[in-house]
Amino acid sequence: MGGGARAVNPQTTAERLGHNRFVLDEAESHIEIDQEVCRRTGTGKRLVAVCPAGVYSELEDGTILAEYAACLECGTCLAVASPGALRWHYPRGGFGVGFREG
Ligand code: SF4
Repeated sequence: MGGGARAVNPQTTAERLGHNRFVLDEAESHIEIDQEVCRRTGTGKRLVAVCPAGVYSELEDGTILAEYAACLECGTCLAVASPGALRWHYPRGGFGVGFREG
């Protein structure tokens, strides 16, 4: 086992995510929400809680918004969504997030 000290990256998660490059597809969102299914199954609150990019937010009336431009394409929301509540696919070619090491 190597005993060398590991370099610690002093950047915060927000700073590291700030290095990413996003190409927004203004013509088409890659996220669609069925508000009724979301409300009935409690999916909306789970989406808000788990998305690391803060894509989802909930209005006072329970409507779930998706600011898809900030999506990191991690797929976590798919793991917590009840069937029929969320339609998610990767952005069309050339659009979406590009990860850069910072
Ligand atoms: S794929 Fe990840 S970053 Fe994108 S909306 Fe779902 S949880 Fe958020």
